[in-house]
Amino acid sequence: MEIKKRVVIVGGGAAGIFTAVLLAESTNNLEIIVLEKTRQLLSKVRISGGGRCNVTHSQFDPKKLTSNYPRGNKELLGPFHAFQPQDTIAWFNRHGVELKTEEDGRMFPITDHSSTIINCLLDAAKNNGVIIRSEHSVRSIEKTDNGFRLFLEKQDPIECNDLVLATGSTPHGHTLAASMGHTIVPAVPSLFTFNVPTSPLLDLAGIAVLDAELSLKSLPYKQRGNLLITHWGFSGPAALKLSAWAARDLSSCNYKTDLMINWVPSMKREEIYNALLGVKKNKPSKLLENDNLFQLPLNLWKRLAGSDTTAGHWSDAAIKKLSEILSGSVFAVDGKTTYKSEFVTCGGVHLKEVDFKTMQSRLVPHLFFAGEVLNIDGVTGGFNFQNAWTTAYLAASAINLEFGLNLACRDQRDKIRSN
Ligand SMILES: Cc1cc2nc3c(=O)[nH]c(=O)nc-3n(C[C@H](O)[C@H](O)[C@H](O)COP(=O)(O)OP(=O)(O)OC[C@H]3O[C@@H](n4cnc5c(N)ncnc54)[C@H](O)[C@@H]3O)c2cc1C
Repeated sequence: MEIKKRVVIVGGGAAGIFTAVLLAESTNNLEIIVLEKTRQLLSKVRISGGGRCNVTHSQFDPKKLTSNYPRGNKELLGPFHAFQPQDTIAWFNRHGVELKTEEDGRMFPITDHSSTIINCLLDAAKNNGVIIRSEHSVRSIEKTDNGFRLFLEKQDPIECNDLVLATGSTPHGHTLAASMGHTIVPAVPSLFTFNVPTSPLLDLAGIAVLDAELSLKSLPYKQRGNLLITHWGFSGPAALKLSAWAARDLSSCNYKTDLMINWVPSMKREEIYNALLGVKKNKPSKLLENDNLFQLPLNLWKRLAGSDTTAGHWSDAAIKKLSEILSGSVFAVDGKTTYKSEFVTCGGVHLKEVDFKTMQSRLVPHLFFAGEVLNIDGVTGGFNFQNAWTTAYLAASAINLEFGLNLACRDQRDKIRSN
């Protein structure tokens, strides 16, 4: 009897289980084993998206999609041409899970329960014969002539022909990759909100500004979008995106820097100045705080405008000062706060050492990577899971090709697109 080739996947998270399922669905000729060190599989999927699991994002243009990845944006362009959110939607659809899109593009199962995603993945694994071993922690890896020997904390060693490291952002997984010769980009937090203890706006917590532009002193990052004033500083999509793009620089300055907020990014400072001059000229008896010129939330406008004299009495200097405030208020950031317990880190296996056509190591043949173990992270919105699905797909495809097989997903996707 022919002995089956064995693929071991280390890590029972989104990337690991999806790799296993894709492989198992397309072949009976491999023995597929997932080793998970904890008792629970897919534990991050369970708590993700506030328990609803933000599976992906309705951005179907690969190039635009990559702009949501502060790390990995160049490398993911090719992979997104192979497996992108449309493929994720189609895959879950074929497995009986319908996803819905929220106004901001985030996609969730229509049940609003992460258990729908967990059950779907685990059922698919079970039905296709994936062997799952929880409480199996891989301690170290040895290269052998035919592949790898894995030494476990408690159980006997396991050998395999192909090895997929899908260990997430855990230092443990990074140590395993490093032991195979890979460079690990040190982990630092990404996706957090800004603490501004001296902000004069703290008592306005809860106010959301639809369109603000944020930038950081002496750093090249800018983000425009929705901003939320909180009782500790600033949050909302624009702040979170800025934190992700500037994650490494912000870590270097210990989260102490100046944050500039342009409250009216659709207008130049000069235009703002002229608009204010116009009020002085045309409505001299008007109190500025009663003329919400720039459609800001009223309480914020009153705080920023802060004048109880009528427009006709403003000095040029006061108008200039206000146009400066509106186009660039400065706040002293001192620390960060985790966003909704979403501990996303950047750092991981150096991307130059991985072939993004196959997710195979450029240093060690038959060693593959999928998910957050890589130095890839996305902004909030379902992008981190999409990275897990996409890299899992590429790893599974490459392993399949190695054994002369092809994944069905691509054909299925093409069918869906041509309909
Ligand atoms: C609270 C929270 C909410 C989130 N919400 C969202 C969201 O809604 N949408 C989104 O896109 N992203 C979200 N994220 C990010 C997302 O969860 C991760 O990007 C994703 O889970 C990464 O999947 P992964 O499989 O690569 O890693 P993980 O899910 O971390 O899985 C890695 C697994 O490997 C195991 N492991 C590690 N080392 C070993 C070892 N030596 N031996 C055996 N097993 C090992 C770990 O125990 C773990 O189970 C959220 C994150 C958090 C923390």
